[in-house]
Amino acid sequence: MCNRNYSAGLIVALLLGAMASPGWSQQPFADVHVHFNWDQKELISAQQVVAKLKRANIAFTVVSATPTELALEMKRAGGDLIIPFFSPYTHALGKQDWYLHERTLQLAEEGLRSGQYQGIGEVHFMAGFRPKIDNPVFVRLLALARQYAVPVLIHVDAGNEQKFVDICRQNPALKLIFAHAGGNLYASHIRRVIEQCDQVMIEFSARDPWRYGGLTGDDNLLLPAWRELVLEYPERFLVGTDPVWKVTRTQTWDQADEGWDYFDQLLSYHRHWIADLPPAVQRKLALDNARRLFAIKKD
Ligand SMILES: [Zn+2]
Ligand SMILES: [Zn+2]
Repeated sequence: MCNRNYSAGLIVALLLGAMASPGWSQQPFADVHVHFNWDQKELISAQQVVAKLKRANIAFTVVSATPTELALEMKRAGGDLIIPFFSPYTHALGKQDWYLHERTLQLAEEGLRSGQYQGIGEVHFMAGFRPKIDNPVFVRLLALARQYAVPVLIHVDAGNEQKFVDICRQNPALKLIFAHAGGNLYASHIRRVIEQCDQVMIEFSARDPWRYGGLTGDDNLLLPAWRELVLEYPERFLVGTDPVWKVTRTQTWDQADEGWDYFDQLLSYHRHWIADLPPAVQRKLALDNARRLFAIKKD
């Protein structure tokens, strides 16, 4: 991410703030993808994150953390605002070796059995890197998700949808969330996921212009193919901010991540394109689909 992009991003955020329709910017919003990783905690506390979420009228948020226990720290700070997921990255560098250790499964089972965690993820599969999707620890992690009937948030970076479709077709009874709508994938790829896997929810975090992009045009409204797909399947989409600034890089261990500084900017971006959809669809994407996924009753 170069500096020029970065300041352009700030300008767009200011414009978006000015353009947001009155009232909408304060509607309750379910953010299904945030992190509270150790390299973020160096810059912001759990209490400060919770204060940010409340100011933005977030109804609830799915938190995934490295190491995973930081999601429980967020839960203690935020209560009903926080839905903690079990991250298999159970130590600071766990992303590199979680799939080699039986211990990952023991910790997952303990955390799910006790009810501390309400999902599993985020689990990453990057093209050219291990693990592969047939890794035995991953396969058994999915079996635990099935046993405890919790959703799994999966990030796959690939040139097409096939790897994710392989996972969902092998696990038809499992609730799966496809992170970032596949990162670099197009609406045509995601249509094939939706049509082949009834149980999959697609989420749009990090598809903002500053990271993966590809979702909206110069007006920051959905590109026609995405709009058509969302209107055709309004029950199948979720939205998150994923305030990790270096989300598209694989190595982030050398410096703190200032992603939470951009939370409001990322949220404004998503609220803006959602506000352009028919009201019933807006509400599904911003809140109701996530409520249904987590069986959260309306007030
Ligand atoms: Zn991701
Ligand atoms: Zn993420």
